[in-house]
Amino acid sequence: MSKIVAAAAIRGANKLAQEAERFLDKAIKEKGKDAQVSFPGTAFYLPMAYALLGMEAKNLQDLTAILEHIKSLLHQEPSEKLWLPYLGDALDSGIAALLAEELIVALRYLYGQEPQEDCEGFFTDTILRSLGIQLVDGRMPGFAAILGAAPDNKTAVDVVRELQKRNILTFVGSSVNGRSIIDQLKEEKVEMGWDTYIVPYGRDTITGIYPLHWAIRGALTFGGHKKGEALKCLKYCKDRVFAFGLALGEVDDIKYATGAGAINMGFPVIADTDIPEIRPTGICTYEHLVKEHDYKKIVPVCIEVRGVKVKISEIPIPVAYSAAFEGERVRREQMYAQFGGKYTTAFEYARSKKLEEVEDGKIEVIGPEVDEVKEGGALPLGILVEVAGRKMQKDFEPIIERQIHTFLNEAMGIFHMGQRDMCWIRISKDAHKKGFKIKHFGTILHARLHDTFGAIVDKAQVMLYTKQEEVEKYLAQAKKSYSERDERMAGMTDEAVDIFYSCTLCQSFAPNHLCVVKPERLGLCGAYSYLDAKASYELNPVGPNQPIKKGECLDPVRGEWKGINEFVYQRSNKTLERFHGYSIMTFPETSCGCFECIIAILPEANGFMVVNREYNGMTPCGMSFSTLAGSVGGGAQTPGFMGVGRLYLVSKKFISADGGLKRIVWMTKELKEALGEKLKKRCQEEGVPDLLDKIADESAATTSDELLAHLEKTGHPALKMDPLM
Ligand code: SF4
Ligand code: ZN
Repeated sequence: MSKIVAAAAIRGANKLAQEAERFLDKAIKEKGKDAQVSFPGTAFYLPMAYALLGMEAKNLQDLTAILEHIKSLLHQEPSEKLWLPYLGDALDSGIAALLAEELIVALRYLYGQEPQEDCEGFFTDTILRSLGIQLVDGRMPGFAAILGAAPDNKTAVDVVRELQKRNILTFVGSSVNGRSIIDQLKEEKVEMGWDTYIVPYGRDTITGIYPLHWAIRGALTFGGHKKGEALKCLKYCKDRVFAFGLALGEVDDIKYATGAGAINMGFPVIADTDIPEIRPTGICTYEHLVKEHDYKKIVPVCIEVRGVKVKISEIPIPVAYSAAFEGERVRREQMYAQFGGKYTTAFEYARSKKLEEVEDGKIEVIGPEVDEVKEGGALPLGILVEVAGRKMQKDFEPIIERQIHTFLNEAMGIFHMGQRDMCWIRISKDAHKKGFKIKHFGTILHARLHDTFGAIVDKAQVMLYTKQEEVEKYLAQAKKSYSERDERMAGMTDEAVDIFYSCTLCQSFAPNHLCVVKPERLGLCGAYSYLDAKASYELNPVGPNQPIKKGECLDPVRGEWKGINEFVYQRSNKTLERFHGYSIMTFPETSCGCFECIIAILPEANGFMVVNREYNGMTPCGMSFSTLAGSVGGGAQTPGFMGVGRLYLVSKKFISADGGLKRIVWMTKELKEALGEKLKKRCQEEGVPDLLDKIADESAATTSDELLAHLEKTGHPALKMDPLM
């Protein structure tokens, strides 16, 4: 390590430690040592201290203990270094810096000083889990943390757009001479937030801890590492989290110290100023600290240094195209023209045809183009996608059709919502000005269909109808097909097939976890239904979705098959011997971390509760979603607790071995509403048409006592069922 860098990092860490100590002394004086400290929405206390020191810091007294550790890391005598002995002084300083920064922001939360204006502040566990899936399916290849400010606003926007184009989640913050990149982007009206992959964390370097202790929670959540397993957690970050830092403007001592901390996690730092470079040593196989003065090259250099794998599809349209634009909205005042929604008739429909019936690359707009619409106007729109391929099956039509949403949304300035005959599309004024036409919807779909579904789609053509009578004509055909599909799906039962599909996608972070995807039970992340898994296998026969022969049925009630058990045993690295597909009490299927909902036992109510990821409040089991999630994930079997996909709730096989839907005594309002008619229908089928009213939600109960009162009052059937335990 360069002496200059080491000295700066050590100075920076000392300054941070002093600031932490001063702040902590003040807090103890003003609030007392028992005052509680916590970050919002996490089960990991102060995540750095939890992961690296194994400490569950809850109050100011606990912070005093963390401060002692920080100080011990700052000592120069080797004998006093209690841990991480292989790292040099500067790297120890890096860890000290991270712990001190975390302590400082925790105190700021105590004083209500975080999050800063327009900033995200602490990132919750929920965000960690929901973005986890994007990390594993490759939609998001990595993270960047930018510290400082660019020399001018335009450069700031350019750098961020370069990252956005590559789908890299970018955290922006810190500052140089009182100027922050956050304000540069704000002034240029760049839309910031999780949806656009540009997340402001805070305007000082200390808040740079947010992306870092967010990353370390990945090791705890997805890697299954335990608190205090410092080296394992750091190694997990290095191996699995493709992150890097980008320092824009002068690098001061605090930034050097924070950078040393990032390097400990395996994240290199790239700077645009003259810094002494550090070449590979120790735990990194690549450079630690690199300079690049040319802003046109800086993003490619970052990517190269960290080895981030980026896939950009070049689509010949006049606007930028990338997953980072998927969440971008087009508001009414930004809109040039719209289609569908409550304004006009619109539909999208994908169907398979014979090879000779499809002319690959044919794109036709039948009716007026967008130029014939006045600004702010609307047109009817029918999108008819026809595909052909030797391996194409009718079953794959809905899967292809569902992707239309994502494909169109990823164009900058295009907004898409809904599906089938409920779709709603907008083209922004900016996109229109750049020359975007209705025809380009076809260009995008054609390119993306080949790119994504290359294994099953040999040819694709797209018809775009914009005349009312034509839209109606094809809509009638589409509707017939929608209802046929629905009937087909409804008739698909676990008994009717010989093969289930595995999903091992999440093994990249939960090495022993797998989902067994069945017609009547989808993967717990909600992203893989039976047909999705089947199509995915056709697309990629050596991929994460493999067919599993059910084999001999060992228990039809609990859902146990010989073939499944054998497969589970092998693919769980011999850690799981049995899976019961329909029970939460005996050999329940495992959870990785991406579950849409958690089911948890409530012994006193003789039933279960279901809470979805989006719900932040308290539940009758005394834990919030994020706290519960901490004990369910990691690929272990925990009878009484299980992560599931939302749609499993309306399956006839929903924990059917344990009494099914009638065992549910509490679920969130949002779930009740989202599952709406399907859930009502299931209640009728279960013979309790008013079950939904008997199931409490947060408006009736958030504690066990309130829940029991509600169940008694409404006469919930669970109270009279066989005891669960
Ligand atoms: Fe992960 Fe299961 Fe979803 Fe596959 S189905 S991505 S293993 S949660
Ligand atoms: Zn998962």
